[in-house]
Amino acid sequence: MKMPVISLVEWQKRFGTEKACANELAKVRWPHGFQCPACGSQKYSIIGTRKLYQCSECRHQVSVKADTLFHATKIPLVKWFWAIYLMASDKGGISSLRLSKHIGVSWISARSMLKKIRTAMAHRDSIYRLDKLIEFDDTYVGGKRAGKRGRGAEGKTPVLVAVETREKGAGFVAMEVVTTISKETVKSFLAFHLKPGQNVRTDALPALNVVAQDHVHEKKVTPPEKAGEWLPLVHIIIGNMKTFLNGTFHGVSSNYLQEYLDEFCYRFNRRFWEPELPLRLLNACLAHVPVKIAEFH
Ligand SMILES: [Zn+2]
Repeated sequence: MKMPVISLVEWQKRFGTEKACANELAKVRWPHGFQCPACGSQKYSIIGTRKLYQCSECRHQVSVKADTLFHATKIPLVKWFWAIYLMASDKGGISSLRLSKHIGVSWISARSMLKKIRTAMAHRDSIYRLDKLIEFDDTYVGGKRAGKRGRGAEGKTPVLVAVETREKGAGFVAMEVVTTISKETVKSFLAFHLKPGQNVRTDALPALNVVAQDHVHEKKVTPPEKAGEWLPLVHIIIGNMKTFLNGTFHGVSSNYLQEYLDEFCYRFNRRFWEPELPLRLLNACLAHVPVKIAEFH
């Protein structure tokens, strides 16, 4: 579905008050109008400025934010909407520190907001399964020394990467942090991200042989300098991903890595709809269930 393009000025006009944001959230939450979660009645009144909906039948009260991504948040919805706009319209992604300054919340709040928004991004992408011809490879992120497999990979986090090849270049991309590159982790990655029975191209690393169980495995041993010929797209995308991580986050701890990969993939997979991204991301967030955040590092 094509989404309209929206400028910051327009965004501010539409979503500049708590009431406007709450109404937008209510539209997504109750697309056919309010319905009481206790008795199912559609009659309600709104109480005060707290955006509490009270059922006219059973008097049950429910916040428009309850059971959404904004469940129990103390941060005004207007600030959430700004965060979504800033995150979607900043090509390189926005850091917690920059967001906290832009919208006037603490670093810890900004960090929590970004994590929740990235969870909504990841869920949107997790619905999709890659198909047709797919390039598949592993890479290592972080650590002090450059290097790929085996020795020199200490302190680095292994990541699996798959990308669809299409006539005009890359299609959809999926990335996942794994504990180690093994038959088990490869198999579970493929089962989650790919339709079965596709053509999957790899560089013949033994752990990747498990590809042949559910797919047509096209493998070729390639010396590093020729890797770009057999698996051109996946190498370009891995390069882009590392630039994204270094640019915005200045090196990433493995605790956060999946979150940033989710954001990278979400953006990459929508790169042809970039101007529509703020409204697309807003919809993904408004339609999302609560996200529990266990801890911060
Ligand atoms: Zn009721």
